[in-house]
Amino acid sequence: MLTVKLLPGKDARLLAGHPWIYRGEIARVEGEGVPGEIARVLDHRGRFLGQATLNRKSQIAGRLLSRREQPIDATFFERRIREALARPGRAASGPDACRLIFGEGDHLPGLIVDRYADLLVAQILTAGMERVRETIFDALLRLIAPRAIFERSDVSSRKLEGLDLRAGFARGAGETALWIREGDLEFLVNLAEGQKTGFFLDQRENRRAVRRLAEGRDVLDCFCYAGGFALSAAAGGANAVLGIDLSATSLAWARQSAERNALAGRCTFEEANAFDHLRALDRGERRFGLVVLDPPAFTKGREAVAGALRGYKEINLRAMKLLAPGGILVTCSCSYHVDAATFMDMLRSAAADARREFHLLESRTQCGDHPILLAAKETQYLKCVILEATD
Ligand code: SAH
Repeated sequence: MLTVKLLPGKDARLLAGHPWIYRGEIARVEGEGVPGEIARVLDHRGRFLGQATLNRKSQIAGRLLSRREQPIDATFFERRIREALARPGRAASGPDACRLIFGEGDHLPGLIVDRYADLLVAQILTAGMERVRETIFDALLRLIAPRAIFERSDVSSRKLEGLDLRAGFARGAGETALWIREGDLEFLVNLAEGQKTGFFLDQRENRRAVRRLAEGRDVLDCFCYAGGFALSAAAGGANAVLGIDLSATSLAWARQSAERNALAGRCTFEEANAFDHLRALDRGERRFGLVVLDPPAFTKGREAVAGALRGYKEINLRAMKLLAPGGILVTCSCSYHVDAATFMDMLRSAAADARREFHLLESRTQCGDHPILLAAKETQYLKCVILEATD
């Protein structure tokens, strides 16, 4: 078996409950192994810390699977999956579309599994998970009995692990477009062409928050994708909803879903760059009672945080100016390199420049089926702040 010995002092993160070992923290590796193989992890004195998958091609070279000496086999993974399924909100009778396995947050680093009605969509992000792919899929079939498993291992971060991209049915076959339910709304989800695994499940509870606030308001949903926030606002009694996105494909899904829920009369979807469109709306002196900003991650790396913050500030400043008196801003960030405190400071600075006063109504995060590991702040990536213009 492979053994990894850490440099002096480099055991602190693992001991504090975090599952990652960076490449630069390894003193030496004993034994030969293929990327993703299991290794015993020792501190510099040779004390056992746990077992991790090892991939020296990746910056994150080690991902802890267990803190105990135990076989890491099919039984182990089946137990881990059972534990994940037992967390709140994931019962077989639970939501139609939800996250069943959230990687590190479920002690299964590198594995994402979402349920969309009777289908599963899986994402394998690391060499460690790639090695046990068949074991995982077999266990999912046994434990959940889905109609099929669609794999969306086509995210570019796989290249950092030395893995190729792959998408397609891993088990079973069938249609890749289906209707899912979120509360009493139905959404068209395209597993093959959609972003992420098809839908932004992490925003489910935040969409519900928007629904509660939308009554009687003119709503702007920027970066609307397939209309998640837009339709939630319309269902909550919004006067009129305008959804903006760059992707014509996702707007077509949004329109179909609006029709399906008999909300098309109050929803308009326009293909536009949100940065330009916010400016144009301000020039045209349009005002909204509720604006949602849910942009993609502006940075995937620590280096680009300053640029990302400029982007966040620009759209937030513009959105703040578009709010009618008493208007509400629901503003999100899914970049985990921009932490909650930094995001809040950015909002203070944008509000000052917009010369608007706000009250903080709610500070929210990702949906509960994306469990947060206290020791691993990377697992809490979503910020959703709700502000009310009270000037
Ligand atoms: N709010 C959505 C998820 C948004 S994901 C939901 O709840 O489901 C981010 C979206 O931003 C994507 O659909 C992407 O196409 C879009 N996007 C990225 N850059 C954009 C830009 N500059 N202007 C408008 N839309 C953009």
